[in-house]
Amino acid sequence: MFDFGKILEAWPPERILPLITAATPAMVKGSLAQERCSPEGLAALLSPAAAGQLEEIARQAQRLTRQHFGRTIGLYVPLYLSNVCYSDCTYCFFSAASGSSGIRRTLNMDEVRTECQALAKHGFQSVLLLTGDAPKVASLSYLAEAVQVAREYFPSVAVEVYALEEEEYRQLVDVGLEGVTLYMETYHRETYAQVHRRGRKRDFDYRLAAIERAGRAGVRRLSIGALLGLYDWRCDGFWTALHARYLQKECWRSAISVSLPRLRCTPPRHRISYFLSDREFVQLLLAMRIFLPEAGFNLSTRESAAFRDRLIPLGVTNMSAGSSTRPGGYAVSGEETLAQFEIEDRRSPAEVVAAIRRAGYDPVWKDFDWAFHDEVGRRQ
Ligand code: SF4
Repeated sequence: MFDFGKILEAWPPERILPLITAATPAMVKGSLAQERCSPEGLAALLSPAAAGQLEEIARQAQRLTRQHFGRTIGLYVPLYLSNVCYSDCTYCFFSAASGSSGIRRTLNMDEVRTECQALAKHGFQSVLLLTGDAPKVASLSYLAEAVQVAREYFPSVAVEVYALEEEEYRQLVDVGLEGVTLYMETYHRETYAQVHRRGRKRDFDYRLAAIERAGRAGVRRLSIGALLGLYDWRCDGFWTALHARYLQKECWRSAISVSLPRLRCTPPRHRISYFLSDREFVQLLLAMRIFLPEAGFNLSTRESAAFRDRLIPLGVTNMSAGSSTRPGGYAVSGEETLAQFEIEDRRSPAEVVAAIRRAGYDPVWKDFDWAFHDEVGRRQ
């Protein structure tokens, strides 16, 4: 088993949860005083004891974010290439077994171009291309072609697609791919098996190792996350943070970022068992920021406009804006193609930019300079 698999095994819930339960306010203060927050310190920051000290933790998180990223928020936009999927994830509307009835389609390259043109007009320079798990429909060569088309319009192109082999990631890097986003969804093996019922995604170990394969293949931006609501948020947050720190060390040429996608609306057959409140979400973001001062934190339009605005000063570094979660959703499709999930923040890119400025931050259309990231990597 590769190394992070061993780290994960060394931190089962039976080890993490007692640390969280036993944490005291004094231990939380101790975690804030550590030069480099330890896993035990992270557990304290995730604890109920820390929930009463959020203001103090927020001040530290804000200081660290400004130290490493200044007062800037990067902007990106998702572009769904396809909503066809052969895996069966109980929480997802794209699953063939979800009972969803919307139209399924895969964009051809002319349509990809039309979508890119529409998004580039808003000023975006960073795009995330997404598909379901359907390599027969969205094959590697299809993805490579889509990356090439997108690169004509955006300096920064990332994909959020099914897990690939290292050589396959390399082929995408060769045509201009800069980033890979790949959520583990949950790091809890038993829950993972329950919610991933069919398809290639059922293979926990293959997916766990995929983001490192991307890093080895030369992908310069790696983004991970757990789908909050599938399992205990404190454990999944803890594991995600450990994974990010592991990747910072192993894939030091890549910039590592973390997303915090929160399940809100699911197909009827999936009940959200571990819903976390807004306050708990904030606690998780702050704790992870302190554990990972150099990591980017991405915030999607799954969250409401008001909540996203409140999170700007608390550690977020990248936000999507003006998003659609359906193929052709920007310019191509007049028909109602099936969406992956409902958008909560429906503001236009210009409105999100204005909100970022009102918060005293500068919107950045292009991601940070890679020379800077190389320098950060070498220092670790
Ligand atoms: S989460 Fe991804 S792999 Fe799973 S059903 Fe949805 S699109 Fe398919």
